[in-house]
Amino acid sequence: MIEHLSLPRLSIASLGGTVSMRAGVAGCGVKPTLDCEQQLLQIPELREMAQLNVASLCLVPSASLDFATMLEVLEWARREVERGAQAVVVSQGTDSLEETAYLLDLLWPFDAPLVMTGAMRSASQPGNDGPANLLAAAQVALAHGSCGRGVLVVMNDQVHSPARVRKTASMAIAAFESPDCGPLGEVVEGVVVYRHPPGRREVLPLPHRTDQRVALLEACLDADTALLQAVATLGYEGLVIAGFGAGHVAANWSDVLGHLAPTLPVVVATRTGSGPTARTTYGFEGAEIDLQKKGVHMAGQLCPRKCRILLWLLIGTNRQHELQAWLHA
Ligand code: ASP
Repeated sequence: MIEHLSLPRLSIASLGGTVSMRAGVAGCGVKPTLDCEQQLLQIPELREMAQLNVASLCLVPSASLDFATMLEVLEWARREVERGAQAVVVSQGTDSLEETAYLLDLLWPFDAPLVMTGAMRSASQPGNDGPANLLAAAQVALAHGSCGRGVLVVMNDQVHSPARVRKTASMAIAAFESPDCGPLGEVVEGVVVYRHPPGRREVLPLPHRTDQRVALLEACLDADTALLQAVATLGYEGLVIAGFGAGHVAANWSDVLGHLAPTLPVVVATRTGSGPTARTTYGFEGAEIDLQKKGVHMAGQLCPRKCRILLWLLIGTNRQHELQAWLHA
């Protein structure tokens, strides 16, 4: 008993996703079913590592998560740390994990780690990775070296930065990568090994409004401008473009972006999946030099989806003027 009480306190919550999914009626596919306690049944060693506080906050596929739910998850995690949890683990679907993790990281004010994980194989599949990922997430959460790193994404024994991680494969077990920089660290025989010490972190305050909407559109061959032109009239307060190559759009799009940029923040990122946007290389209409002259922001390393999260939070905290600084932090 004394030994039990000396264990660190770890709070674990589940939101749903494949890690919670199981087959029901034959032929109908897997669906979110397992609550957090049920997800942990296959990992009895967790209770020898920590005093657990377990919560099932929702049970949905991660495409159906939203900003409001994630702010509630943040609130739950804050309370757990304030009540003495050494660290927090959150499991959810992998489809939107790269976005939710970045959102929470921009708002996570503690040194205590918040570790997010999921699974690529459901609980009904042989070789399912949910229990292994949950165990690795707990090991990372409890590791001293994880303190001061904000939110961490743990999948397939790798630890990723929420600002850089992407789901790059739809079905593979090794579905997560951090293009250009690689993972922050690895879990080897239960021990987390980081490649570098933690860097400086900056966080945003909680948004004081959440009704703002930020559109995300992808540039593609021979696209007309009808949707682009509708962005302002539909009430969007920010716009992100997943641009070609180094952050480029066609000349007709450049023209519309030039009209939009004085009225709402516009960011152009790259749709390629890795590498930064350019700043000073290309001189044609629709390339970075032209776009920046028109007041458009280039995303740098941040992928289009994460740009949308950042812009949503900056608008919600009335800090749109900090956009350029955050993009190139
Ligand atoms: N395929 C997804 C997952 O890995 C489903 C989801 O994101 O909820 O969890």
